[in-house]
Amino acid sequence: MEAIIQKEFKERFGIDGTMYASAGRINLIGEHTDYNGGFVFPGAIDKVIMAEIAPNGTDKVRVFSIDINEYAEFGLNEDDAPSQSWARYIFGVCREILKRGGKVKGFDAVFAGNVPLGAGLSSSAALESCFAFALNDMFNDNSIDKFELAKIGQSTEHNYCGVNCGIMDQFASVFGKKGNLMRLDCRSLEHEYFPFNPEGYKLVLLDSKVKHELKDSPYNKRRQSCERVAQRLGIETLRDATMEDLDKIKSDITAEDYMRARYVIGEKDRVLAVCDALVKGDYETVGQKMYETHEGLSKDYEVSCVELDYLNEIAKECGVTGSRIMGGGFGGCTINLVKDELYDKFIATAKAKFNEKYGHEPVVIDVVISDGAHKCE
Ligand code: ADP
Ligand code: MG
Repeated sequence: MEAIIQKEFKERFGIDGTMYASAGRINLIGEHTDYNGGFVFPGAIDKVIMAEIAPNGTDKVRVFSIDINEYAEFGLNEDDAPSQSWARYIFGVCREILKRGGKVKGFDAVFAGNVPLGAGLSSSAALESCFAFALNDMFNDNSIDKFELAKIGQSTEHNYCGVNCGIMDQFASVFGKKGNLMRLDCRSLEHEYFPFNPEGYKLVLLDSKVKHELKDSPYNKRRQSCERVAQRLGIETLRDATMEDLDKIKSDITAEDYMRARYVIGEKDRVLAVCDALVKGDYETVGQKMYETHEGLSKDYEVSCVELDYLNEIAKECGVTGSRIMGGGFGGCTINLVKDELYDKFIATAKAKFNEKYGHEPVVIDVVISDGAHKCE
């Protein structure tokens, strides 16, 4: 990919630029915890966006997207927004840096990537953080701190792409470090690195390729349940609740709200248990917690679907160490921690069984925990 980008850049702009890269992300555990003030546990992956960039001495940005095979040119003022949606991510990053008092001048860029689009690996965050990192290095002597770079990406989604996302994706993409996952506290925004070197295991995503269209946003309903229980407990978010607290008010809340809160409180404890297990290199416990999360998302939080439950069931039958829905639910991927020697059989079984039942194979995406945004030396 690097060579193709360099060749295209040279042909279009006649010079060499500097290469930057950033990555998509997975979340090992910690789902639906962000809006409850809890923890998420992401890591950057070996699926990246790479861009070659050079200042061009003008006040215009000229960018070519290899994957979409489109060219965009735009100025840096608020009313210069490009029409192509992919270019708006780059324009948004420029604008958000300028809004914060940072510098951005005209530049030329060619970019490409291999983060699957819309598969739950956050290709958009990879794109934003690649350019945010590059423009910080190129025009600002790296004076913008890393957390601000993540927020620049998040604000880009909010203000220029119409996506009201949290901070996890951009955080993971900017802070990602090879061989490490990061526990991000969604309340304090503090983070801590934990080693993730599952020797003898592979991490693989199975994309069910299904996305269930849902009426009257179930996400909002889940949030409302959590808020009601927190209010009843007299706390701000379920982050501060224990199972004992919840059981004390069981008769005062609906059975449904009870189940939702039980999942959220359990998930907070599972993230912490996974951290302990990783410090000890105990990947069997990590896997066990992943299954428990799936169970909770499916039975208590009710955000799974038959296809994802089926993939989870196949994993269990194949003796896979850990497997769960990744992301908000109602479709998308499962994330699986698989022993090397079981890998081939698991993939073959999952493909065959899923195809038999749903008429298509899940897409297999192998991932290795890798570096986030960086300059390529
Ligand atoms: P995801 O879940 O992968 O982040 P999004 O819909 O949020 O999915 O973002 C995908 C969008 O990001 C694409 O529609 C495109 O505009 C942009 N994008 C991501 N990767 C690339 C790429 N390699 N080349 C061009 N645009 C990309
Ligand atoms: Mg996205």
